Amino acid sequence: MKRRSFIKATGLAAVGTAITPNNLLANNFPKKKPFTIILGSGFSGLGAAKQLKEAGYDYVILEARKRTGGRVFTYNMNGLTCELGAEWIGKSHTELQKLNNDSQLTMLDHTFETRLYFDEKYMEPSEWSYDETINKFKASLELMKAGTTKTLAPLDKLDYWRYLQQIGMSEKNIELRELIDSTDFGESIRHVSAYVALGEYAFSSEKNEMDYWTRGGNTNMINELVKNAGEDKIKLEHQVTVVSQNKKKIKVTCSNGATFEGDRVICCLPTFAMSKIKWEPGFSSSKRDALDQLQYCRIVKTSMLFSERFWKDESFDMMTDTLGHYFFHSSKLQESQQGILTSYAIGDKAYVLSKMPKEKKMKELAHCLQPIFGDVKPMMNDLISYYWGSDVHTQGAYAIYDTSQWFGQRSELIEKSGNIYFAGEHLAEWQGFMEGAFVSGMDAAKAVIKS
Ligand SMILES: Cc1cc2nc3c(=O)[nH]c(=O)nc-3n(C[C@H](O)[C@H](O)[C@H](O)COP(=O)(O)OP(=O)(O)OC[C@H]3O[C@@H](n4cnc5c(N)ncnc54)[C@H](O)[C@@H]3O)c2cc1C
Repeated sequence: MKRRSFIKATGLAAVGTAITPNNLLANNFPKKKPFTIILGSGFSGLGAAKQLKEAGYDYVILEARKRTGGRVFTYNMNGLTCELGAEWIGKSHTELQKLNNDSQLTMLDHTFETRLYFDEKYMEPSEWSYDETINKFKASLELMKAGTTKTLAPLDKLDYWRYLQQIGMSEKNIELRELIDSTDFGESIRHVSAYVALGEYAFSSEKNEMDYWTRGGNTNMINELVKNAGEDKIKLEHQVTVVSQNKKKIKVTCSNGATFEGDRVICCLPTFAMSKIKWEPGFSSSKRDALDQLQYCRIVKTSMLFSERFWKDESFDMMTDTLGHYFFHSSKLQESQQGILTSYAIGDKAYVLSKMPKEKKMKELAHCLQPIFGDVKPMMNDLISYYWGSDVHTQGAYAIYDTSQWFGQRSELIEKSGNIYFAGEHLAEWQGFMEGAFVSGMDAAKAVIKS
C-alpha cells in the first residue's frame, strides 16, 4: 500500500516506538504475558483485541455506550439498511476486505455517479467537469507520490484551500473542490492541512475509497469482531473515568464504580473522551495541549425513506450547494420498491440541519431535491438523522488535521505514556477511516506484544 509507506516515511506512524523515559517502565515487568485493558469497542479497540487474542494475550474491553462499534452505526428503516456513521470501504482498505472475506460477509458495490446541482443548475455526470487548471492539481498529486518527508513536510504549514490558490487553480475549480472535498474532511478545506489532503488524494482509489459496503450493514463487521474477541470480555456501560499507573500496574476506574487492574492499557478513545478522563500521573503538557487542540469535524447524516426510487439510477448521488450538501442512494442494491436517500452535510450546514425538528428537516431536504425531481415530500415516509457534532463521546465525526497539526499534534498524541498505548482513527495512516482505526488498534497491540 503506497500510502502506508509514504506516511511511514514521516517517521510518526510507528505506534509505541517513541523513545521516552517512560518506556523504561516496561522493563520492570516480569516476563509473563501482560494483561491488557482496552478502552473503547470501536474498530480500533476490536482490532487491538483481535491481535492480542491471536498472540494468546488476555484482555478486557471497557465500553461506555450500551452498544459496541462506536462510530459504526447501522440503522434499519422498514427492511432497508442505512448507515448513520461510517459508510464506505475503500478498494485500498485491505484489512477490512480480508475481514469481510474471512467472516463470509458480502461486500456490495457502493460506488456512485455524481450529479451536480450548482448555481441553481442541475447537471448529469457527463455534463460537468473541472476546467483545465485541474491539471495543476493532478501534477501536485504526482509530486506527492514522488516526494520525501523532507520535501513534503512544509505542505503541512499550508491549508489545502490556500494551496489550491497558490498552484493556480481557477476560482471555479476551487469552489467545486471546496464543495466536494469538504465532504471528505467534514469541514471547509480552509481548515485542512495541504499535506493531509494531498496525501489522501494521491494514494486513494479512483472513487476516493468510496467503493464498497458490507451487505446488511457495517455493524456486521463489528459483530464478527465482537464474536472473535469474546462477548464476555467486553464490558458495556463501563465509562472509564480514571486511569492510574505506577511502575507495576495500571488501575482503571469506571463511572459505575467498577475497577480493573492490568499491566498495559490500549486507549482507543477519541481525544474528547480522553480529555474527560483523569490520568495519573498526568500527561506531559504538550500531550495535554494536543488533546485540546485537535478538532473533530461536524457531520449530520439524514436518511430519508421514500415510497419509490424516483431517482431511477441505483448509482445516484448528487453534490449540491444547498443545505443537504451531498445526497446518495443508501439502499443501492437492496431489493425493495422503497428506497433510502441520505443527505450528508458538513460543518455549519450540519449544525443548522441538526437544529431542525424532524418535520422541518423533511421539508428542507425535499426542497433541496425539488429543482430536480419536483415535489418529493409526499413520497417521504420517514426520516432519521444523527448529528455527530454533539455526540456525547466524540463531539464530532472524525479528526480534522489543521495546518501544522499532522507533524505537530499527531506526533504528541501517538506517543505512548508509560504503559499506556494509543490507537484510534485520529492516529491512523488511513485517518478518518474504519480501516485506519482497525489497523491502528492492531498496531498498538503489536507494540504491547513486543514490549
Ligand atoms: C458520519 C461519519 C461518516 C464516516 N464515514 C466513513 C466512511 O465512509 N468510511 C470509513 O472507513 N470511515 C468512515 N467514518 C470514520 C469511522 O467511523 C471511524 O474512523 C472509525 O469507526 C473510528 O473507530 P475508533 O475505534 O477509532 O473510534 P470509535 O468508533 O469512536 O470507538 C471509540 C469507542 O470508545 C467509547 N468510549 C468513549 N469514551 C469512553 C470512555 N470514557 N470509556 C469507555 N469507552 C469510551 C465510544 O463509545 C466508542 O465506542 C465515518 C465516521 C462518521 C462519524
